Amino acid sequence: MKIGELKTDFGNIKDLQLSIGQAKEEKWEEPMGPTPFPSLTTLREWDKKLLERYKPFYMPFCDMCCLCTQGKCDLTGPKRGACGISMPAQQSRTVLITVCIGAATHIGHARELVTSISEKFGKDHPLDVGGHNVEVEAPLIRLVCGIKPETIGDLDEVLDYLENQLTQLLAVTHTGQEGSSVDFESKVFHAGMIDQVAMEVADIAQISAFGFPKAEEETPLIELGMGAVDTSKPVILVVGHNVPPAVNIVDYLQKTKLTEEVELTGICCTSLDISRYTPKAKIIGPISWQLRYVRSGVPDVIVVDEQCVRADLLIEAQRIHAPLIATNQKNCLGLEDRTNDRPDDIVADMVSEKVPGVLILDTNQVGEVATKTAIQVAPKRKKMGFFPKKEELKEIARKCNQCKECRRSCPNDAAIPEAMKAAGKGNFALLEEMYDECVGCARCEQACPQKIPIHSMILGAAQEKVKEEKYKIRAGRGAIQDIEIRQVGGPIVLGEIPGVVAFVGCPNFPKGGKEVAEMVIEFAKRRYIVCTSGCAAIAAGMYKNDEGKTAYELFPGSFEAGGVVNVGSCVSNAHIAGAAVKIASIFARRNLRGNYEEIADYVYNRVGAVGVAWGAMTQKAAAIASGFWRLGIPVVVGPHGTKYRRMLLGRRDKEELWYTYDARTGDKVYTSPAPEHLFVAAETKEEAMVMIAKLCMRPNDTSKGRAIKLTNYVDLHKRNFGSIPDDVHLYVRTMADVPITMKDEIVKMLNEKQWKERTIPDPTLLPRMIRKAKVKV
Ligand code: SF4
Ligand code: SF4
Ligand code: SF4
Repeated sequence: MKIGELKTDFGNIKDLQLSIGQAKEEKWEEPMGPTPFPSLTTLREWDKKLLERYKPFYMPFCDMCCLCTQGKCDLTGPKRGACGISMPAQQSRTVLITVCIGAATHIGHARELVTSISEKFGKDHPLDVGGHNVEVEAPLIRLVCGIKPETIGDLDEVLDYLENQLTQLLAVTHTGQEGSSVDFESKVFHAGMIDQVAMEVADIAQISAFGFPKAEEETPLIELGMGAVDTSKPVILVVGHNVPPAVNIVDYLQKTKLTEEVELTGICCTSLDISRYTPKAKIIGPISWQLRYVRSGVPDVIVVDEQCVRADLLIEAQRIHAPLIATNQKNCLGLEDRTNDRPDDIVADMVSEKVPGVLILDTNQVGEVATKTAIQVAPKRKKMGFFPKKEELKEIARKCNQCKECRRSCPNDAAIPEAMKAAGKGNFALLEEMYDECVGCARCEQACPQKIPIHSMILGAAQEKVKEEKYKIRAGRGAIQDIEIRQVGGPIVLGEIPGVVAFVGCPNFPKGGKEVAEMVIEFAKRRYIVCTSGCAAIAAGMYKNDEGKTAYELFPGSFEAGGVVNVGSCVSNAHIAGAAVKIASIFARRNLRGNYEEIADYVYNRVGAVGVAWGAMTQKAAAIASGFWRLGIPVVVGPHGTKYRRMLLGRRDKEELWYTYDARTGDKVYTSPAPEHLFVAAETKEEAMVMIAKLCMRPNDTSKGRAIKLTNYVDLHKRNFGSIPDDVHLYVRTMADVPITMKDEIVKMLNEKQWKERTIPDPTLLPRMIRKAKVKV
């Protein structure tokens, strides 16, 4: 409020300004739950319940700590560091640091998005992620913060909270603070929870501002793959996670009527998000495609924003004479800040190669500079690639001295020396085969004493495959509609839809992305609800069946049994957790508002959801997993996931761990070890599929639902390992749980194990949820 001049009895007041921080009319009738804006310890008791069942299993990378100058400290066995910390606590501390980095990345990204959207559209810009189809527009914010945001400006309060919590969490990792591994783990869960909220903030802000699909079931099919690019046109490549610079490029192309003249291509989440803005953008691949695409020479200009951008991308760009534009303060790459220069001057300097690239921190300039540069550079570059030609491969391969350093450094143990030997004799088949499983890290090249460009040779041998790389992926849809939740809530909670399987995260795959696509198709065929996001969503689209169709063409995009639902980029992960939470709210009518523990208890006991991060790699992937854990949703990772240093494993042999309250009677009832683990690594795709099916079981399953889940679990085990699993008896509570088609063999096992019928409880871990206390006689 501004008052120019006010005459009062006690004098004249001039230029008075009054501002009131928060004075909003309360329109939301839902009563406030017990834990709005929880602190580091508010949900500690809930965490301890989970951690009692799922004890951390540590796999230290190294036995030393060197975080402060009192170290290095040897933490082997019972030894403690100079600060008094034990090995388990140190491992959990490292996990907390990792998850804090991941959460900071999403919170920082969300803050940048909200700030730039506020400047462009105003703080009053309404949040709208699905019109009347999505009344619960921000389930995680409602759940954690207890507020119902309606405008972009309302998200500031949420971000203030997240930034505060993150600071407190990071402080915990300082030398001489927390000493308990369990308390460290509880804080890991807290960091995961705030990470989920940050992702929701980011995605609902960008959906609302940029008009991304609003919970649409059938979004457009987007072209995917290097073979989809029209290389006769100037090509722009965008890489990263923060979409506003790419949006500016699209706007500029439209304004100047150049949309059909210039190819806009992208890698990683910026590509997923820009394809939500325009279906004309082309997605090249997940982050592991950075080197191969740049070395192909196709991009004429490279625009990077933040997160998951290779730190050596400027060097690689210079090798193919493609200028690079950095657009984010977190990723300046040593480039000169040209934000305040005239666009034409910047373009001239890059086209003449006077500078290899520039830093432009004003998003509104990026479109013009990137487009003009691409158009002017393209004729000069003539798509100069970096792949050796087939005729050159033989000669280069002959330099190999078979030292095997490359294979030792390859995360996927690729048989590079053998491939080099064959290539030296003119047989490139082994090199070509490696293309599908290579994650594009170039560690082999760094290790090679002969300086052989191994990754480029793989690409050179696979040139035909590269040209054929043309797929379709459905654009990210964002949120799940309330009506979809109403329709599937019952079947999920009763177990009749066997589970919700979410394929999320990065492409550090042990055997290439094809395995993700195969798992997606397998579970969709089995009528699970399959969700995808981020690089896993891209990988799921990079495989065609015999009819030439990808998973996105084979299955509907709706949140229903047999649907394959691409929610969008990494930050769209929030909608998957949000869907689980909305089941509790919309289907079961539980209060969401500031009511985390009760809702997590509901999700844990009733919603058969499992996260799968088959190529989990980054700190953000660790944070995303942690958010699922606190909600009681298990996560399966691929073999590289063990490098996160610890798993959260249940012990099915310890019967005492698997008792829960029956909310109807107050009795403590043995349930199956369901779900058996909260965080577990699988060595192979086959192991993962069996584990996923098992982890979808929940104590609340009806007999019909449990029979459906057991059918999938046993069938997958038999197909992949040739026998029925040895723990089926633990999951059969009554004879009605036994699948009819498997009755004979399962009943035989039950008899051998001296199985006894059990009660199916109305399960809860929370004594306060018991409706009728047991009457003591
Ligand atoms: S933080 Fe503790 S364990 Fe680590 S180096 Fe310092 S004193 Fe040693
Ligand atoms: S670039 Fe490919 S082959 Fe080389 S180390 Fe990485 S995964 Fe192995
Ligand atoms: S590191 Fe280089 S020289 Fe050694 S085996 Fe591998 S390709 Fe050959």
